Amino acid sequence: MPDGSGKKDIKALLPDELAADFQALGLPGYRAGQVFRWLDRGVRAFDEMSDLPKGLRERLDGLYAIPSLTMLRRQVSAKDGTEKYLWALPDGESVETVLMRYKHGSTVCISSQVGCRMGCAFCASTIGGKVRDLTASEMLDEVLRTGLAAGERVDGIVLMGIGEPLDNFDNVLRFLRLVNAPDGANIGMRHISLSTCGLVEAIDKLAALHLQLTLSVSLHAPDDETRARLMPVNAAYGVDALYAACERYFHTTGRRVSFEYAMVRDVNDTPRHADMLIRRLRGTGSHVNLIRLNYVSERGLLPSPEQTVRAFADRLSAGGVTVTVRRRLGSDIDAACGQLRRGRMREP
Ligand code: SAH
Repeated sequence: MPDGSGKKDIKALLPDELAADFQALGLPGYRAGQVFRWLDRGVRAFDEMSDLPKGLRERLDGLYAIPSLTMLRRQVSAKDGTEKYLWALPDGESVETVLMRYKHGSTVCISSQVGCRMGCAFCASTIGGKVRDLTASEMLDEVLRTGLAAGERVDGIVLMGIGEPLDNFDNVLRFLRLVNAPDGANIGMRHISLSTCGLVEAIDKLAALHLQLTLSVSLHAPDDETRARLMPVNAAYGVDALYAACERYFHTTGRRVSFEYAMVRDVNDTPRHADMLIRRLRGTGSHVNLIRLNYVSERGLLPSPEQTVRAFADRLSAGGVTVTVRRRLGSDIDAACGQLRRGRMREP
């Protein structure tokens, strides 16, 4: 994380890396775990690590930075308790994080980049392009600080906020390992979902790691013609190549990919589209998550009417494809899919 001091970002270090560093500094073995646990509690300075000798705190402060996010704004949905946070990053950029409350616990939807360069036609996050990748520790801090601010234990994470996580592969992977650490947030891979617009090589790279996370692919259309209208990435990886990558992912990891499908009025929501999707997915055990398009005024695409979504879902079901319609959380605070960064970008 750039902080200008030239110090090493201690929050980006995995437990074994911190242990190796501390060993090289001649510190006793238990110190690394102690410091790692303090970091998980959200301390912003070594001085807050009250059970460390003062001399050690000063020494560590000379070597390491603890880059931290600062809350700029918190909005709470009056409808469903969803919370949206705007965080300042150490270099002055900002990102949003959403906390969603479900019966089984709370899930944090984090951003993986400042902006996005994928250019999907319906998405607000890509307006203005990508500014930069988030570091592993910035993503970790989204989880930690959102949990602390909301006063909730975070049970699950979805990488479905701003950015394309597989376009920031190494940092995202490091983040996953950090958040998975038993001495840290200790969030199991089975409680983590990663959503991608479909970067085929990166999907293969992820498969090779055999993580037990859920991979969601933003499909949004069953055919190249429709998908290319909505997603520029389809020019690089067409629908056939994407399906093949999802198959390989399943064979390698034993985990089935789930598909996201935002319903855009008169673009991808017709019975013909449903039938093409059925032909692709019937018998594969794949799950389709229908999302009502959230209207983004800059984008000029309209959400499908409720009854069209229902009819599309029913047609998929009857055709042998498992389907759910995603609940809309936080719509009154613009926390819904594809809307993050929108309000702020309209501000001067
Ligand atoms: N870049 C990743 C993750 C971020 S977006 C991806 O493409 O999957 C998370 C999900 O929200 C994706 O399925 C995305 O296509 C969808 N989305 C984006 N804008 C939306 C909008 N206006 N309405 C509904 N869903 C949207």
